[in-house]
Amino acid sequence: MSFKSLGLSEPLLRAISKKGYETPSPIQAKAIPPVLEGKDVLASAQTGTGKTAGFTLPLLHNLTKQQSQRHRPIRALILTPTRELAAQVYTNVKEYSEFLDIRSAVIFGGVNQKPQVATIKNGIDVLVATPGRLIDLENQGLLSLKRVEIFVLDEADRMLDMGFLRDIERVMKLIPNKRQNLMFSATFSKDIKKLAYSILNRPVQVEATPENTAVEVIEQKVYRVAKTKKTGLIIKLISEGDWQQVLVFTRTKHGANRLTKKMISAGVTAAAIHGNKSQGARTKALAGFKNGKIRVLVATDIAARGLDIPLLPHVVNFELPNISEDYVHRIGRTGRAGASGEALSLVSADETSYLKNIEKLIAQKIPIEIIEGFEPDPNASTEPIKPGQNRQRNPRRNNKPKGESEGSSSRNSNRNRSRNRNRRRNNDNRN
Ligand code: AMP
Repeated sequence: MSFKSLGLSEPLLRAISKKGYETPSPIQAKAIPPVLEGKDVLASAQTGTGKTAGFTLPLLHNLTKQQSQRHRPIRALILTPTRELAAQVYTNVKEYSEFLDIRSAVIFGGVNQKPQVATIKNGIDVLVATPGRLIDLENQGLLSLKRVEIFVLDEADRMLDMGFLRDIERVMKLIPNKRQNLMFSATFSKDIKKLAYSILNRPVQVEATPENTAVEVIEQKVYRVAKTKKTGLIIKLISEGDWQQVLVFTRTKHGANRLTKKMISAGVTAAAIHGNKSQGARTKALAGFKNGKIRVLVATDIAARGLDIPLLPHVVNFELPNISEDYVHRIGRTGRAGASGEALSLVSADETSYLKNIEKLIAQKIPIEIIEGFEPDPNASTEPIKPGQNRQRNPRRNNKPKGESEGSSSRNSNRNRSRNRNRRRNNDNRN
């Protein structure tokens, strides 16, 4: 199987070969043909599978079948949940369209809208956007989606987790009924299926290699440890193991900040990356991490989605996620592209049920280790700590429930969904 045999045009093949891709990834091999045929596609694929090229390449091919119009209305809209993912998808669109007469732009919140508006005014064919800024600019009459021919919803599950359902529904009303739809999601809950049903028209369903295959090449370990000793343990592991590039996951933004501060005090260079950080701070943290100036990147699940950090040797779950699929996403950050990696989880008594659910999902028992001096607390309760029970010392800036994880715990609940929306209104800085 080659990109050429998939039927992609010459300028796209040139861009692909410039990127150094030799063969299509499984999701590309499955998704590209139906997209080229103009069909709607519902794809199950997560970051790291090559899904972005899976929709971008045939999208560009389809757009260039027609000569671009002089005024260049927006003909393709790609909606993503986070700024990072939007920026990354946009980079891909630029790279793949290098040899085509296609113009593109990216818009997201948290930064000045002026340069974004100026680019759109010049005329673009492809727009990559996060929902908040997109609706905002449309409301201001600064862009029109009336000529959209292809609509892509990327990381749809994350969109719902972040409370974007209403925004997606609003966007759907702004684009023509007759269009091609592509929807990508790593997981398929009832809500995702409902959304797919409402957006897609007789979609072809494609699936990347099952998510769990990644799990098999990753060395996993659980350290049972007292909650109060986790910070000491992670600093010991990083220092004594001389790990130079570690991605650490916490469940809350506040937890990410606290851990980062403690690491820095202990002499380990670290930065936090989450939704309350400005775009500039996030970009800087990521750049520092990639170029080796920062050893530890402490992230929440949402912030980590869409980050393009290849080949991480170490991923540490400082806290286990309460959604088991998030564990698979997190540890998928190591052992990419066939390289081996290590995924460690620091598990306290209250996370026992999360661990059980994860082991059930991946159909594996994860080996357990206890480090002397960092033993688990035999008297601690195995009841999960509920949102609101977490010991947060600093009051929150906006009225968020204490200890609430960044989005993931609010799945399926109307109350939480509206809370998420309020949160976004108060603090429109995640997109
Ligand atoms: P994605 O899942 O779209 O975030 O892509 C993950 C990574 O795989 C990105 O760094 C891409 O540049 C890379 N990639 C995508 N398609 C291919 C391919 N066919 N061969 C090699 N690398 C690829």
